Amino acid sequence: MKVLVVNAGSSSLKCQLIESDGKMSLMKCLAERVGNEDASMSVSFFPDFEKVKYNVAGLTVAGCLKKLLDIMTDDPESPISGLGQIEAVGNRIVAGGEYFTRATLIDEKAREDLAKCEELAPLHNPAADECIDTLREMLPTTPQVAVFDTAFHQTMPPKAYMYPLPMRYYDEYKIRRYGAHGTSHRYAAQQAANLLGRPVRDLGLITCHLGNGGSIAAVNHGKSVDTTMGFTPLEGLMMGTRSGSIDPAIITYIMRREGISFDEMDAILNRESGIRGVSGTSGDMRDVLDAAAEGDERANLAIEMYVYRIQKAIGSYYAAMTRTDAVVMTAGIGENSAELRERIFAGLAHMGMILDKDRNDFTGALGANRIISIDDSPIRICVVTTDEEMRIARETDALVGRM
Ligand code: ADP
Repeated sequence: MKVLVVNAGSSSLKCQLIESDGKMSLMKCLAERVGNEDASMSVSFFPDFEKVKYNVAGLTVAGCLKKLLDIMTDDPESPISGLGQIEAVGNRIVAGGEYFTRATLIDEKAREDLAKCEELAPLHNPAADECIDTLREMLPTTPQVAVFDTAFHQTMPPKAYMYPLPMRYYDEYKIRRYGAHGTSHRYAAQQAANLLGRPVRDLGLITCHLGNGGSIAAVNHGKSVDTTMGFTPLEGLMMGTRSGSIDPAIITYIMRREGISFDEMDAILNRESGIRGVSGTSGDMRDVLDAAAEGDERANLAIEMYVYRIQKAIGSYYAAMTRTDAVVMTAGIGENSAELRERIFAGLAHMGMILDKDRNDFTGALGANRIISIDDSPIRICVVTTDEEMRIARETDALVGRM
């Protein structure tokens, strides 16, 4: 099935046309800095994926999508010649609130519920909704699916998702923990179950999505029972540029001391903190590892803090579950950095998570899912590669295929 995957952000648009049967990408598109003077969009097609740049100044995110559809029907390199050849659309939605517990076909009711979720992710959801409306206009008979970052975590029990705040904030504003990276945690758990040769419903798994953003989930019998991200993706682990969990009193303290606005504080916590803030070098882990290797003390401190916070989160989820069969590492850092995996698990051997150095270092089959713990490690350690657009295409295919 040819699935158009649409991943709309506040000022970006990522799309792929994916042949879901062969798990193959046929078209890739990335629009960045949308809304700015220097906005640009690159489009490339199978098999060479040679990027062609387009000027998209003045366009909205949905406007970029319209332009992409024109390019896809006009460009002789394009694998399709008419929009009718797109068999389904999979939309990535950041926040599904309490309305969506799984990937959902977008009908009138779902579209109404999506509108109610906009205030939960005011930067991302409205852009995605606009794209959905554009596609409903241009491809009126093509099924569209919404795949949510939050849906997988809707199985969390109230003791995990409620905040110890006055109850009226939940009643009036639905302030609670929603989590994120849900498709990634679900996929990582399923892939780990395949590696262990047992059904995911029989397993207790701790899944670690460590990319620019990062979150860990406790997945008990295939269901998320807790996760480190909360009302927004700011809670939990230390991340590339996000602080993760800090004493909330620091926020009001800094705002008073420096007389800064809510928006300025928001930018400090989301864009200037985390690995970037501590290292002073970069929010990109590779840069910080390089700097630390050259003796940069702050880069080293940032890595130590990053590792320590992950170790504590893994330990707390070991306590949250009744059994732990495996810890699963995925996303940019989790998949690619043998050094960080080694540092993380060096502190967790006493809990029965024992890394095999050779298996951890092995890069011959980069991209392949594998077990990297020693044979008799009581808890296995797995590495699973993730591809967000591909996961969305597969979830869309599964749902549309059942219709
Ligand atoms: P996103 O969350 O934006 O999807 P990714 O999952 O691609 O991000 O992760 C990006 C992060 O992974 C960056 O910090 C990058 O430096 C890090 N990363 C990628 N490859 C490596 C590597 N070989 N060693 C260490 N870090 C890596």
